[in-house]
Amino acid sequence: MAIRKITKKHDGTLDVPDHVEIPFIIGDGIGPDIWRASVRVFDAAVEKAYAGVRKVNWLEVFAGEKAYQQTGEWLPSETLATIREHLVAIKGPLTTPIGEGIRSLNVAIRKALDLYVCQRPTRWFEGVPSPVKHPEYVNMVIFRENTEDIYTGIEFAAGSADGTRVKDFLRKEMAVDYDFTEGTAIGIKTVSEKGSKRLVRSAIEHAIFHGFPSVTLVHKGNIMKYTEGAFKNWGYEVAETEFADHTYTWAQWEKTKVAVGEQQANTALKEAQRNGKIIIKDVIADNFLQQILLNPKDYSVIATLNLNGDYISDALAAIVGGIGIAPGANINYKTGHAVFEATHGTAPRFADTDSMNPSSIILSGVMLLEYIGWNEAASLIVAALQETILQKAVTIDFFNQMEDGKLLKTSDFASAIIYNMESASSR
Ligand code: NAD
Repeated sequence: MAIRKITKKHDGTLDVPDHVEIPFIIGDGIGPDIWRASVRVFDAAVEKAYAGVRKVNWLEVFAGEKAYQQTGEWLPSETLATIREHLVAIKGPLTTPIGEGIRSLNVAIRKALDLYVCQRPTRWFEGVPSPVKHPEYVNMVIFRENTEDIYTGIEFAAGSADGTRVKDFLRKEMAVDYDFTEGTAIGIKTVSEKGSKRLVRSAIEHAIFHGFPSVTLVHKGNIMKYTEGAFKNWGYEVAETEFADHTYTWAQWEKTKVAVGEQQANTALKEAQRNGKIIIKDVIADNFLQQILLNPKDYSVIATLNLNGDYISDALAAIVGGIGIAPGANINYKTGHAVFEATHGTAPRFADTDSMNPSSIILSGVMLLEYIGWNEAASLIVAALQETILQKAVTIDFFNQMEDGKLLKTSDFASAIIYNMESASSR
């Protein structure tokens, strides 16, 4: 059967051929170790689930140190072109070049393909060491805005000529009443209606598709009214104008309360919940970081801006086992482009030791398989990974936190998962 690429159909869904070509970037540091282990798991799951009818042809594309050594470029344009053409790709961690004019290769890839959603599912696998009593209460999917906020790199160093011009402009032209003390650096925070709405839209669609009960807009709108506050308002607007049949918002509750009183507002909210509507709510970011520890059951899909999302992702990852097992994806739901990735870095000290946890990239692969609709293969991996952890057969990061764990190398951990697919598939 001919190997083909994934394409996007006119109705917006993906056309995924049975023999599909998917590009991968092996990554730097521990990247090759964890990729080699993970790809065996992916291939075994696809083979087991579809008995040869479906198959992935992994196509290596280059970025990071490997690309630099071969081509003198950290992110060759050919790599971006290949990913653009294939829609979907997966990558290991990449070294951030120092002083090469690229802030981060990950940011460059996200920017080039306008991957506006950084999606991070956070769930706990039974047996994974956790610092909290009930990690099983955490089952959230973070939708972090990926293109705006304080992350755009519009910054002016303290004492720079440009920084001084910006300060003079703000003081003189804009009558900004602020004492820019000597040595003040400036960064610009950007939040747009388009950027906010497309992010929240994707989060709500995800909640509808996967049957999640709520979408929470996490923001600091109490302080940053025109940026984070606007994000919240635009989020509610998207829900009320585009998803009226599927959602009920706290903003609607508030309006009902003002119009007819709190009791009737509560009745309307309960009625919406009974009818299976998704509740759209909002929480201030600092409170949210408490809530994920105190009341994690109350939250499912999270929509938030770039910086909040960065903090929240790592805090949630720590609860369910740390960066070794935290998957991620950067997605543009409009074009269909999606790059799945290990969320941790290259851990260069451990390169070629065959010791690190490959679960982050394995679960990113699970996200990829689900994204292309190969759910049977994805479920097999999840079940076999769970089984392996329950057997306490783990890599060093979990082993160090377990009472009577069995220490495995990266490659052996992958073999154990593949072995456990047998029992997982018969269940
Ligand atoms: P890191 O995530 O590479 O490592 C920090 C520590 O986390 C490691 O020392 C190790 O103890 C632990 N760790 C990381 N991955 C693990 C795994 N799979 N299993 C078990 N333990 C694991 O962070 P860093 O040291 O700050 O960054 C190193 C390099 O990676 C830098 O160049 C940085 O820019 C880059 N980086 C890349 C990405 C990415 O490509 N997505 C993300 C973060 C950092």
